[in-house]
Amino acid sequence: PKSKLPASGVTIFTQMSALAQLHQAINLSQGFPDFDGPRYLQERLAWHVARGANQYAPMTGAQPLREAISRKTAELYGWLPDADSEVTVTAGATEALYAAITALVRTGDEVICFDPSYDSYAPAIELAGGVVKRLALQPPHFRVDWDAFKNMLTPKTRMVILNTPHNPTATLWQQSDFVQLWQAIADQEIYVLSDEVYEHICFAPEGHASVLAHEALRERAVAVSSFGKTYHMTGWKVGYCVAPAAISVEIRKIHQYLTFSVNTPAQLALADMLEAEPEHYRTLPAFYQAKRDRFVKALAASRLEVLPCSGTYFLLADYSAISDMDDVSFCRWLTAEQGVAAIPLSVFCADPFPHKLIRLCFAKQEATLDAAAERLVKL
Ligand code: PMP
Ligand code: GLN
Repeated sequence: PKSKLPASGVTIFTQMSALAQLHQAINLSQGFPDFDGPRYLQERLAWHVARGANQYAPMTGAQPLREAISRKTAELYGWLPDADSEVTVTAGATEALYAAITALVRTGDEVICFDPSYDSYAPAIELAGGVVKRLALQPPHFRVDWDAFKNMLTPKTRMVILNTPHNPTATLWQQSDFVQLWQAIADQEIYVLSDEVYEHICFAPEGHASVLAHEALRERAVAVSSFGKTYHMTGWKVGYCVAPAAISVEIRKIHQYLTFSVNTPAQLALADMLEAEPEHYRTLPAFYQAKRDRFVKALAASRLEVLPCSGTYFLLADYSAISDMDDVSFCRWLTAEQGVAAIPLSVFCADPFPHKLIRLCFAKQEATLDAAAERLVKL
C-alpha cells in the first residue's frame, strides 16, 4: 500500500536495541531499566489474577486506579481532578498521546513541538491531518525562546506539545515557562498536551513543574503520565491522562475504539501500590540521582562532555573530542565496535542538527553503568 507515514521507518529505539543485541553491546540506548520493579506490585498483580480480576476493565480505567491517580495529583500539584470525568487510564503514555492528538487536531491545524521532540508526536499529528511546526531548542539548556514561540503562533495553531522532564535532553520546564505559555496563548483556543511521563524522576530541589499546577492552563491541558517509568515496569504499558471533562469525553471516544480498556489486574495492582507505598515515587529522585552521579563521576575520566541532567533517566554527552562522525554513524560504531549502545540526538529533530550529542540511559544496575563507563573511558 501507499504509506500514510512515508517518512517513518522502524523507530530508533527498536533499531538500536536490535543492534545492541546483535553485537552483545551494553544497551544504554532504548530507555528501560535492567532491574525489576517492586516485589509488592508483582505480588498484587498475581493476587488480582488469582482472584479472577481477568475480564474487561471499565473503558475509562479501573475505579480504584483513577481515584489513586486523582489523590496523587492533589498531593503533588494542589488540584484534585474528578476521578470519574477527568482521569482516563490508557495503554501506556503512547496511547494517551495518540488519543489526545487524534481527538483535538483537525485537518490543517498547526501543532507546535519543541525539537528535540519525542518520536511519537509528529506521526500522530500528521495522521490527524495536522501540520507540525517545530521550534528548535539549543544546547546546553534547551530553554524555550518565548519571543520565537509567539512568532510561530497563527490563527491555525491548535495545540502545543511539551515534555518535562524532557526526553532526550534531561532539562526541565520552570513554572515561569508555564506562565509565559499562558500569556502567549490565553486569547486563542489552543490546547496544551503536556507529556510528563518522567514527573517522578526530577532532580530539581523545587520538584517537577506540572501543567496541572497552573490554574488557567489546566482548563485547556491534557497531562500525560506513565507507570512504566515510575515503577521500573516499562513492559506493563499502563499510562493515563488528566484533562477537563469536556476534553476527556473526546479523548475517551478515541480510546474506546483504539484499545477500549487497559489490562485489568495490572491496573488494580498499580492502584494498590499507589495507595500502600507512596514513598516509592517520593524516593525515586534520590534513587536515580545516585545512579546519575555514579555514572557522571565515572565518565569524568572520558573524553565525553556530559551535559547537565536535571530529570529523566537519560543524559546527553558531547563526543566532539572523540570523533568527527555524524551522530547516527557514531552510535552505530559505538555499538558495533566499542560495545555500548546509545541514541543519536538528531533523530529527535527535523532540521539538520549540527551538534555531536548522544543520549545514554542510566536506568541500569551499578555494575552495568560501571562496565559501560569502563568502555567509554577508553574512547
Ligand atoms: N513520552 C516520553 C517522553 C517517553 O520517553 C515515553 C517512553 N519512553 C513515552 C512517552 C511513552 O510511554 P509508555 O511506554 O508509557 O507508552
Ligand atoms: N521512550 C523510550 C525511550 O525514549 C522508548 C520507548 C520505545 O521504545 N518506544 O527510549
